[in-house]
Parts: sequence; C-alpha cells; structure tokens
Amino acid sequence: MSSSPFEFPGSPVDVLVVGGGNAALCAALTAREAGASVMLLEASPRAWRGGNTQHTRNLRCMHDAPQDVLVDAYPEEEYWQDLLKVTGGQTDEALARLVIRASASVRPWMRRHGVHFQPSLSGALHTARTNAFFMGGGKALVNAYYRSAERLGVQVRYDAPADRLDLEDGRFVAAWSAGRRIAARACVLAAGGFESNREWLREAWGQNADGEYPSENFLIRGTRFNTGVLLRFMLDAGADSIGDPTQAHMVAIDARAPLYDGGICTRIDCVSLGVVVNRHGERFYDEGEDFWPKRYAIWGRLVAQQPGQVAWSVIDAKAVGRFMPPVFPGTTARTLPELARLLEIPEATFLRTLQAYNAACRGGDFDHTRLDDCHTAGLAPAKSHWARPIETPPFTAYALRPGVTFTYLGLRTDATAAVRFGGVPSPNLFVAGEMMAGNVLGRGYTAGVGMSIGTAFGRIAGQQAASAARRERHRVAA
Ligand SMILES: Cc1cc2nc3c(=O)[nH]c(=O)nc-3n(C[C@H](O)[C@H](O)[C@H](O)COP(=O)(O)OP(=O)(O)OC[C@H]3O[C@@H](n4cnc5c(N)ncnc54)[C@H](O)[C@@H]3O)c2cc1C
Repeated sequence: MSSSPFEFPGSPVDVLVVGGGNAALCAALTAREAGASVMLLEASPRAWRGGNTQHTRNLRCMHDAPQDVLVDAYPEEEYWQDLLKVTGGQTDEALARLVIRASASVRPWMRRHGVHFQPSLSGALHTARTNAFFMGGGKALVNAYYRSAERLGVQVRYDAPADRLDLEDGRFVAAWSAGRRIAARACVLAAGGFESNREWLREAWGQNADGEYPSENFLIRGTRFNTGVLLRFMLDAGADSIGDPTQAHMVAIDARAPLYDGGICTRIDCVSLGVVVNRHGERFYDEGEDFWPKRYAIWGRLVAQQPGQVAWSVIDAKAVGRFMPPVFPGTTARTLPELARLLEIPEATFLRTLQAYNAACRGGDFDHTRLDDCHTAGLAPAKSHWARPIETPPFTAYALRPGVTFTYLGLRTDATAAVRFGGVPSPNLFVAGEMMAGNVLGRGYTAGVGMSIGTAFGRIAGQQAASAARRERHRVAA
C-alpha cells in the first residue's frame, strides 16, 4: 500500500463513501448500522449537498395492497412490465426485480432515518398509486439523512471531490481528494452520472448534420457537481461499463431555466394540450401520443434533435387552467401571426402548420384525464389525443430546451453492487445510484425509479462494504 504525508484527517476508516446524494447516504447509513466506521465525501459545499436527490419528490414503490400514502395495489409484475416497456427490454431483469422488491419494504427504514411521506398532490403526474412522495421533497430527505448520519457518527466531509482511486488488482486501497489520500478498508462509489460535465456531453453527442454541437444548448436540471470525474477514472482503470453515453433522462424544459439546478419547477407541462413547433415553424412529433407522465421524458431528446435544439409549446386560451403553470409567463399574443413574429419564427410556415393542424382535428369529446377521441386525421405527424383547434385567443408559447436529468452510462454491477473488472467482482469496491442506474435503465424512464434504484443499491452497497471491511480487518490481523 502506498503512503503519503497528505493523509486525509479521520482516515483510515472501514468504509469510505464517495458522493453525497441518496445512494451515498443510504450506503453510509447502512454501513454504519452494520457496525463499520464510515466517512462520506461530498464534492459540494454543505449548502449544495445532496446532488440531484435534493430535487426529487418521490419513490416508486411496489405494494400488494393500499399502504399509508399509497392507494390500491402496484404489484411486482406490473412494476416490472412498466420498466420493461419504458426501457424497451434494455434492462437486467434480476437487478430490476431486486430494486422492485426492495421498494416494497424500504419505507419503514427510511422513516427511522427521519424521512416522512405524504400522498401525491394533484398535478403530480398521476402517481398516487405508484409513488410515495417525500414530505418536504428531496431537500427534506437529504437533510434528514445527513442528520441521522451525523447522529450515528458518520464523518461527513464537504468540498471534498474525489478525483482518483488507488486500486490493486481490482481491490480498493484509497481515494484521493485535492491531493490528499483517504485510505479505507472498503469503498462505495455513489458520485452520480456525468450530466454536469459539458465537455463529456459534447463528446458523447458530437456534431449533427447541420454542424451544430447539440449539447451546447442542453440545460442541466440538477446539480453542477455530477461531473463524472470518478466515472471516467473507473472506465479508464478498466472497470466494466454499462450503457450508452448519449442515453439519459431528458425533459423538455423552460428555455429560460438556469444552466444548473432549475429543478422540477422548470418543466413545461402543456405539450399535450397544444402543438409543438421547431425553429422552422414545423411540428415534428405527436404531442398527444400518450398521457404526459408517460411521455414527458422523451421530449428532451426530441427537442435535442431539432435545429438549434429549441422548440415552442403553443396553446390557446382553452388550455389555460388545465396544467401546472410554469414559473415564468409565456409569450402571449392576440393573433397567431403576431405570436410568430414575437417568437421570431417564419410566419408563413408557422401559420401553414397551425392551419393544417386545426383543419385536421376530429372528434369532440375532449377529456384530458383519459385517452380521448380528439385526434387528427390525415396529418403527419398525427396528434393522437386531445387534438383541438388552436383558435381561441390569447395564444401562448413557451420556448423549450433539452433538460438533462441524469446520464445512464455507468459501471456494470451485480446483485452484490460490486464493481467488476473483466467480469470479476471487486472484493471491496461497490457502486450505487446514478453511477450504476444504467444496469436497470438502458434507456427510457418511469417516474420515481431513480430513487428506487439508489435506495436499493445504496443499502446493498453499504451492507456489502461493511462486510468487506470486516473481512479486510481479519485478513490483515491473520
Ligand atoms: C429535477 C430533478 C427531479 C428528479 N425527481 C425525481 C423523483 O421525484 N424521483 C426519482 O426517483 N428520481 C428523481 N430524479 C432523479 C434522481 O435525482 C436520481 O435518480 C437520484 O437522486 C440519484 O441519486 P444519486 O445518489 O445516485 O445521485 P445524486 O443525488 O446526484 O448524488 C451524487 C452526489 O455525488 C457528489 N459527487 C459527484 N462527484 C463527486 C466526486 N468526484 N467526489 C465526491 N462527491 C461527488 C455530488 O455532489 C452529489 O452529492 C430527479 C432528478 C432531477 C434532476
């Protein structure tokens, strides 16, 4: 083992956890409960702790009968089928079922660590049956877990990004943060994806046929601290990987959102109530294909494929009051030509698009709570549901940009959460959360599964790391 005069204060410990969001905290708490001494390295300052987790609202939970805040039942098979559908089969069934089953029993443990739940509110993507909402949101969950961790004696270090590890034949030896070395008997990597690394996004997405680098117009919905530095290090060190670097959870969000940390309030939820046009004033996808909660996560990618990576969600007065209003008001006009001029998109094409759409609308029994019969006829692309002419002023448009939630490229793992090198599991290095979510999410998404994955694998990784640290103690003592 190499040594350094720059030992990190408090090290060595049994279990070092790298990251400060849900997966890391679940790992740290579980390892500590199993008797290990634990240190957690959070890259961010204290005020920004909690990564993307601070923006979350809920956890998708399997349950066979109504359970406190969850109505009806959401059995394992239905959860699995939902996951199978959204991923198009790009998922590891054994690991996915492990996550699903863990979600059935985890809430009492979460409550013991101070997390409380509430029923879903209206406007929360119709999730009262499937998702348990955190009282006070993800920020309250993060604060509760940190409080519990500190009470249990987990050493928390802020402003402590790890940038590399010392590894020996797949065995973890130490981590480095800002030139200081932290030795530990076992380690859990839970440092998020690489969504906030704009250079890596640029490299992954490359250049499109128009010579643009689409990722330059992406906004990051969550933390700026998930730069993927350790993910890159691990891939370069030969760890087995999973997933495609361009696959990510991507939502079309308000183009005026900040570059980082805009969170959920930047969502624009009126797409299915109107039409969406690109910079040329043309529609490009069926806005009414399915319920918005099942479609919102594909629109980031759709907008990313448009020229300039921008689009506008256009509605008329009939839609107002039927969706959660965005934080900032949209661009409003009394006429469609005036709206086109305000948006600076080609007026003639925009008007042709809207006229063709309005003329193609069929059916009359509009009902936004079901897949109604209001559809277009003979229009490409079609609008399958909720198609009503856009003709009642005032007209409103919201500019959309791709908003990256988190990336799916990660480390391949198994039911023990071990990092693997050439198919061989590491004896003492584990991974949880976004850094391995690609094992379950090859593509697509269903609301609340990110927290299910991080909670299940965070706890497995914490348990396994505590056991590995015990083994390591015995190995050294022998
Ligand atoms: C706006 C928004 C809303 C969301 N809503 C939901 C929801 O309601 N339900 C749901 O299931 N999912 C939701 N998600 C997804 C969810 O946030 C993630 O799936 C989940 O939080 C991932 O947990 P994690 O611990 O892996 O990552 P994170 O919570 O992002 O934590 C990663 C941590 O690692 C730290 N870090 C990064 N690099 C380093 C380094 N080199 N050294 C040390 N620390 C490092 C970061 O600072 C951060 O603390 C949402 C995401 C966003 C952005």
